[in-house]
This record gives sequence, structure tokens and C-alpha cells, in this order.
Amino acid sequence: MAIISANKNLKRYGNTHIRYSIIYVVITFFVLLFLNIYSAKTSQKLFYNSKEISMLEKCLNASEAISQADILNPATAADTVSGMKNLSVSRLVVTDVYGKVMHDTGAEIYPGNFLLLPEILNALKENDVFSWYYHAGTMYSKAAAPVYINGQLAGCVYITESDPEQGALIQTLQRNVLWITIILECFVIVFSIVFATGFSTRVRKILSSIRVIRSGDYSYKVSLGGSDELTQLADEFNDLTEKLQASEEQRRQFVSDASHELKTPLASIKLLSDSILQNQMDPDTVREFVEDIGDEAERLNRMSTKLLSLSRAESAHDSNFEIVTISPTLERVSRMLYALAEKNNIQIIQKIYQDSPILIQEDDLYQILFNLVENGIKYNTAGGKLTVQIQKVDDNAVVQVIDTGVGIPEESVPHIFERFYRVDKARSRKSGGSGLGLSIVKDMVQRNNGTITVESTLGKGTAFTLIFPVFDTEEFL
Ligand code: ADP
Repeated sequence: MAIISANKNLKRYGNTHIRYSIIYVVITFFVLLFLNIYSAKTSQKLFYNSKEISMLEKCLNASEAISQADILNPATAADTVSGMKNLSVSRLVVTDVYGKVMHDTGAEIYPGNFLLLPEILNALKENDVFSWYYHAGTMYSKAAAPVYINGQLAGCVYITESDPEQGALIQTLQRNVLWITIILECFVIVFSIVFATGFSTRVRKILSSIRVIRSGDYSYKVSLGGSDELTQLADEFNDLTEKLQASEEQRRQFVSDASHELKTPLASIKLLSDSILQNQMDPDTVREFVEDIGDEAERLNRMSTKLLSLSRAESAHDSNFEIVTISPTLERVSRMLYALAEKNNIQIIQKIYQDSPILIQEDDLYQILFNLVENGIKYNTAGGKLTVQIQKVDDNAVVQVIDTGVGIPEESVPHIFERFYRVDKARSRKSGGSGLGLSIVKDMVQRNNGTITVESTLGKGTAFTLIFPVFDTEEFL
């Protein structure tokens, strides 16, 4: 046990808000990274496409111009190239079918030498070729195309172009996108921190309130503000603590009432026994005192029995439900209370109009009827009547316990189901009352899905009405 609690204390809890913030930042980082790469690639592709078209066009124009000559040699190549206007390329090379240079505007290779670049070799296989690369802010592009003279492959044209402006444009675009990405990511981080801190502060508030309440201060309330789920959680939590507070208050009240009620007969017993011990009494008085002690002990016994059945009624689970009719149980109750009724000169009358089956815990039904009939006898007047009626009204079994007794004052009616409440304490005590009988009845009626109501006229009598839903056998089948 000690090990378990030690482990419990050692348990560390992760920070949800930090975890969520990190996930949030990482996800947005990847999304932005993707957008960054995608836009860079797309812009490069756009430049590539437009450059490819213009370079190949220039190449094909040059090839067309050269193919006008009858023969391809350094002289005709130089001639044709010098005649070309607005070519605007960095370098133009003309080769024969073997890659031997006929002319090079860059003057890097002398005519007669070979220039076996991949683009040239590819063009000599009668392909139009374009390639490009990007270096240090400049875009370098190359293109090559075959040259035909009289329909025969005679060589190729190879041009290159360096383009610092377009390179700079791509670079600027990429840099801007990168900056936007960085700024956005910073926003995301700041937003995550602010959001996570706010969230965690609110959660911590709820947690600390739980700790305060756990320490016993049920009056503590969480105030969060806002209108989100956390606020709802806090409100629900406050409701819960209110209920806890009420039930704690009820429990305290019950314990103090119960101990007070138990103390009274104990004090009487002590007083009576002290009197016997301290005074010289004649045997008859002693006998009288001892009888009183017996009565008080009997009262204590009854009260503890009722307290027990009350706590059973509170803690019992729905387990022993049975389908029963009411009259057999009423018969048992009447038999048990017959002697008391005789003693008090009360006539018990049973009127069974229609006895329908109900779903109930039979022990509860017995206790309910017993308490009501016993009260009808106890709070009756000599020669009075106690009528128990059973009938069916709509889909309900209705039981009425009607007496012709002392009645209950109007102001007391709302309180008679409260624990330890007695209208006339002296009378109730004399008749062995504890003020618990009706509260037990109410608890039991409620947990058997019934209702109980009371009508009373002072000096004339009281009628308790019990209503239980009739058990529908057809629906059950
Ligand atoms: P008790 O054990 O004192 O009878 P109950 O909870 O059964 O406690 O009843 C509470 C109080 O309600 C009683 O003290 C009594 O004053 C009043 N009471 C209950 N039943 C009747 C009744 N049939 N007629 C008049 N008063 C009643």
C-alpha cells in the first residue's frame, strides 16, 4: 500500500499545452516548407519553359540561316553568322557533323578543333537540345540544333546565354517566399505560446480548485470567464461542488440530529438510574423508574433499527425487484399491527377495489406500508378508524392510507418527510416516535419509482397517497 502511494506521489504529468504547441509548430513548419519548395520549383519551371522556347527558337533560326549555304566550312559559317541580326546570345558555335568547330563567336575554340560537348553530340544525333543551370545568381542556358544542307545533316549550331536578370528575379522571389515563411512561422510560434499559456493557466486554475475542494473547502468556486468548453467544465465543476457541499451539510446535520436523538434517551436512563442509586425509594417507585429505563432502552432500540433501515434504504442497490400485488403485503402488515390497533382501540379497514401487479422490492413495500399504518394508529384517537384503499387509476396502482386521527398542522405538512422532524415532540416520543419513519418511507418510495403525497386536516385526520406504475406484463413479454 505504502509503495503504491509513494509511486502515486512520484507520478509526473506531461504538459498537454506544450505538446500541442510543439505539434502545431512542427505541422505548420512542414506546411510552410512544402509551400516554399513548391513555389520555388514552380517559378523555376515557368522561367525554364519560357527560356527553352526562346533559346530553341534562336538556335533554329541560326540553323536555318546556315542551311542556306551550299557547303559548311569556316568561311561560310563566319559569313552567315556575321549576317545574323539581333541574335543576342553570349556565344554561338557552329560545328560540322563530327563536332569540329567551324565558327565560334566566343573565339574560345579555333576553327578546326573539336568541341564535343554533350549538347553538341546530342544535336548531331538530330535532336533539338536545351539545358540550363543556375549559379551565383545567374541563369546559364544552352541550346543546340542540327544544321541540314540540301536535306543532309551538315553539323550543328550551339548557343549559350547567361542571364543575371532572370537569375536575380528567381533569387528575389525565393528570398521573399523564405522571409514570408520565417515571419509566418514566428507568428505561429508566438501564437502557440500565447494560446498554450492561456490554456494552461485556465487548466491549472481548475486543477488548483480541485485540490482546494479535496482539502475539504466545498464552498470554493472556480471562476474562469469566457464561454468555451473549459468554462463549461468549470461551471459543471462548480455545480458538482455545490451538490457535494449540500450533501456534506446534510450528512453533518444528520449526524448531529442522530447523536442528539440518541443522547436524549441515554440521558434519561442515566438520570433515572442515578436517582435510584442516590435516593431512598420505596420498591414501587424503583419499579416505576426501572420500567421507564426499560422504555427508554426500547426507544433506543427502535431508533437504531430505524437508522439502520434508513442507511440500508440509502445504500441499497436495485437488486430485489419483484412483480407483486399489494394486498398480501398489506395483510401481513395488518397482522403485525393488529395488537397495537387493539390496544389503541383503532379499527383497521381494508378496501381492495383493484389490486394490480407492480414492480417493487417487497421488503420496501412492507416497510412503507408498515410505517404508514403504524403512524395511522399512533396518531389516531381512541375509537378512530384507519382505512387502507387499493385501486387502479389509469396505469397506476394507488394506495391510500387514511386515518381519522389528530391531523397535521398546515405549516408542518411540508416538513414531515424530513429526518427527525416531529410535529408534537412530546406526543411522538410518548408513542415511541423517532421522526425517521416518514423519511424512510419517502426514500423507499422514490427508489421504487413511486410517489407519495399527503393531505391532512388538523383534528380530522390524514391521508397518505402512494402511486406506483402498474407493471405491464405484455410490454415485458
Ligand atoms: P415518528 O417516528 O415521530 O412517527 P415519522 O417520520 O413517522 O416519525 O413522522 C413524522 C411526524 O409526522 C410525526 O412525528 C407526526 O407528528 C407526524 N405524522 C406522521 N404520520 C401522521 C399521521 N398519520 N397523523 C398525524 N400526524 C402524523
